[in-house]
Amino acid sequence: SSKPLYLGIDFGTSGARYALIDQQGDIHSEGKRTYPPVGNATNWASSWKEALFHLLGDVPSIYRPSISSISIDGTSATTLIIDRNNGELLGGPFLYNESFPDALPTVESIAPVNHTVCSGSSTLCKLVSWWNSNCGHDSAMLMHQSDWLLWLLHGQYGVSDYNNTLKLGYDPEIDSYPSWLMAQPYSHMLPSVRAPGAPIGPVKKDLLTQFGFSKNCVVCTGTTDSIAAFLAARTTEPGKAVTSLGSTMAIKLLSRVRVEDARFGVYSHRLDDMWLVGGASNTGGAVLRQLFTDDQLLALSRDIDPSLPSPLDYYPLPKKGERFPVSDPGMVPRLQPRPDSDTEYLHGILESIARIEANGYYLLKDLGATAVEEVFTAGGGAQNEKWTAIRERVLGVPVQKAEQTEAAYGAALLALKEVYIHVALRWGTLSGS
Ligand code: ADP
Repeated sequence: SSKPLYLGIDFGTSGARYALIDQQGDIHSEGKRTYPPVGNATNWASSWKEALFHLLGDVPSIYRPSISSISIDGTSATTLIIDRNNGELLGGPFLYNESFPDALPTVESIAPVNHTVCSGSSTLCKLVSWWNSNCGHDSAMLMHQSDWLLWLLHGQYGVSDYNNTLKLGYDPEIDSYPSWLMAQPYSHMLPSVRAPGAPIGPVKKDLLTQFGFSKNCVVCTGTTDSIAAFLAARTTEPGKAVTSLGSTMAIKLLSRVRVEDARFGVYSHRLDDMWLVGGASNTGGAVLRQLFTDDQLLALSRDIDPSLPSPLDYYPLPKKGERFPVSDPGMVPRLQPRPDSDTEYLHGILESIARIEANGYYLLKDLGATAVEEVFTAGGGAQNEKWTAIRERVLGVPVQKAEQTEAAYGAALLALKEVYIHVALRWGTLSGS
């Protein structure tokens, strides 16, 4: 039969996408669905379920028997409470950005100071808030958005991954939940945790017949949408990084060392035997959009000579306040003096954002992370070749546009990962652990 294919599905903030790839990473099919309209908040679950089954139906039927594995990413800290007796929804979905300040005092009293769970929108705050009005519920269990969507495919309860569970309190360094969390009366609700992309089990029988998947098709654990987007760039070595230049600027660096600093909002996700260290600045494309249209950006950029340093020193922010690489809630945007020439102005802004990016990577290094060696770029700003050249000069490392940036592609790579590891083990290029 035809060669094996790997299916990745991304549940992002605005819609769901799939990517179907082969072992080389070449895309055979892709597709997109927006979420069906939601009447009230609890209908999110049926809306996601509908989008999932629509996407599975969108995968051309000739490919479906060749799919060897499936993985799904979802928005971080999007949470559902499910009854393990019948799969029914007991609470949520609580969306990634929903905050539960009522749970914060309890969470702060049990977790270490400045822990990632000490934020009103963390998964643990969602769990505690639900538990406070439903305590004693024996068969309740917590699922993240991607756990739940994967569960619809494999039907086994209680499996998650160490990326999604970070905001629940899982410690990927010791590979278990910390004792302060296990001591809580709701500890039976915590899912068991595996590496992202680890096989869970086969696709449920009824779906095999409905969609024509192979009985050997395996459902694998997922990850969060921003990690899947990082994985899409296929950066696999420490020192490689992805800068996302969208409305805001986010940097993610593969590091041998785990670093955390709550002051700057810096924390690390585990990726196998490495750490993905991240930080996010409020500078970025939103400021550019306040000043120029995208067409003006293109036209003005054409006249910039990126080999010349700009003498203009700005700190472009869309509004007051910065967190990373400078932690200062009172910082005001600095976009003066404005030269007569718009080309010079834009040059100064792009170069100033590049300096903030460079300072971001310096800060991560100061905190103990592996030094950056190469940067891939995602987001609207990645299109700008002049900016890329300016950044290369300011950062002092090679910078290029990432070939793939879709989270669905990253999820497909996760589906492929286990197979890759097995092949490598068989061929002796990886040592077993
Ligand atoms: P997001 O998803 O965060 O809204 P995108 O990744 O879609 O952002 O990128 C949009 C941003 O890219 C806009 O803020 C815009 O200013 C910026 N942008 C668009 N074209 C260019 C360009 N040629 N040079 C620099 N920035 C650009």
